[in-house]
Amino acid sequence: MDNLEAKKRNSAKLSLTDVISRMWDPTPEDILLVKKAFNYAEKAHLDHVRSSGEPYFIHLVETAMILAELGMSGTTVAAGLLHDAIEDMSVTQEEIESEFGSEIGFLVQGVTKLGSLKYKGTDRHNESLRKLFVAMSEDIRVLLIKLADRVHNMRTLSFVDQDKQLRIAKETLEIYAPIAYRLGIRKLNRELEDLAFPYIYPEEYKEIKRTRKELHQDKLEGLEKFSRSTRKALAKEGIINFKTEYRVKGLYSLYKKLLRKEKDIEKIYDINAMRVLVETIPDCYRVLGVIHSRWRPLPKRIKDYIAFPKPNGYQGIHTTVFTGDGNIVEVQIKTYDMHKLSEFGIASHVTYKEKTKNRDALAWIHSLLPKDSKSNERRKSNTADVPQWIKELAQYEEPGKNQKIFKERLTSDFFNHRIFVFSPKGDVVDLPMHSTPIDFAYSIHSDIGNHLFGARVNGKLESLETQLKNGDIVEILTKENSGPTQKWLDVAITSLAKRNIRSELSKRKKSKR
Ligand code: MN
Repeated sequence: MDNLEAKKRNSAKLSLTDVISRMWDPTPEDILLVKKAFNYAEKAHLDHVRSSGEPYFIHLVETAMILAELGMSGTTVAAGLLHDAIEDMSVTQEEIESEFGSEIGFLVQGVTKLGSLKYKGTDRHNESLRKLFVAMSEDIRVLLIKLADRVHNMRTLSFVDQDKQLRIAKETLEIYAPIAYRLGIRKLNRELEDLAFPYIYPEEYKEIKRTRKELHQDKLEGLEKFSRSTRKALAKEGIINFKTEYRVKGLYSLYKKLLRKEKDIEKIYDINAMRVLVETIPDCYRVLGVIHSRWRPLPKRIKDYIAFPKPNGYQGIHTTVFTGDGNIVEVQIKTYDMHKLSEFGIASHVTYKEKTKNRDALAWIHSLLPKDSKSNERRKSNTADVPQWIKELAQYEEPGKNQKIFKERLTSDFFNHRIFVFSPKGDVVDLPMHSTPIDFAYSIHSDIGNHLFGARVNGKLESLETQLKNGDIVEILTKENSGPTQKWLDVAITSLAKRNIRSELSKRKKSKR
């Protein structure tokens, strides 16, 4: 057990600096908070040991480090350090709250309530997902802590009893990794998939790993040469502040792609990709121009996900070119912001919100409200980050009659049937496919839906029955005396809109009488 001993020694060295140095730009308050949580957790878990033989405290520091790398603020990092305190130690919710305040208390309790998700067959699977969605819908940070917790548990899965390994790995691959993907946190999605992969498909894992290594080594020299030529060409064209890097495709993602392409490795052009990061969107198109004028692109491999983002919000331009020395390379061109968003997804959104104290996004919503309407439905600030699809799934809370709908929605390839629609200011709303401007309006606020009178889609007036497409920009027009009709119930497709329309219709009926 030399390996284990080495690990123990290594981990025992983890210190407060390991956490703080990973935080993006912590304020003095952030540092104090994290320090306090660090000392508190160390004391609380003093005699507690993990199945790896490590002090339990290491797990908390590692979880906090993952959260810090996601750009989380002091509050969330501190909650990460405390996330097992209530469940595993004799600490109470009240103690956490009096020491660290109600926000951290709420987050720690949220993670505790989630507990361990038991994965056994379809029913349990759905039940676990439902619990996750409910927790997420209350505060997305609870989920981020749970994901960080899972990443570290997966990194140390080899120390767990063998009979548990497969269950935990499956749960990771079928629940946590897809959710991380759907929230756009590619960084965690990739790591979770690649950590679970060898436990579930050991033979395939070995094969893919070997294949990737061979291909990568073959191509490395060519890639480096290509990258040097590209950098020279870009500089010559006056493009400044760019950065190039390679990325090697994740093993599990490569495995899935090979299954789709019927195992023909020759068809996988993106095992090695070169990334070009620049400051602005016009720069992205200029880079594309420079590259295409020097290297011949493969036909039909040019994908403009800037003009047409992927359903998960991903943006960037992809093209595949012949490098002239017999190689083929995929080039991904993005702005720095797009890249950050594609790696950290909703996490970077949360960070931004935490820093601007939640107010900016709400200001936009309130500016749309008709002036004299009394809104009794103000969103809690900590739910404003939560995508609509999560809130909707969380509504199927009571078991019984709604269980069936919930299952149907989850099994109907739910994750692939969403579109992203934009407000004129660029805020993103996540809706089911075939949604209409009515669904969009209600997803912003019930008052906006209840005063909806027209919609401009991509600058053009369109009927309220128009089916929105991914990437549409929708401007909602409201009028004081406008409102829902019976017909809207057939047009709207989200349960949120339907529920609001029904309640508004019955309210108006009553007030007429
Ligand atoms: Mn934990």
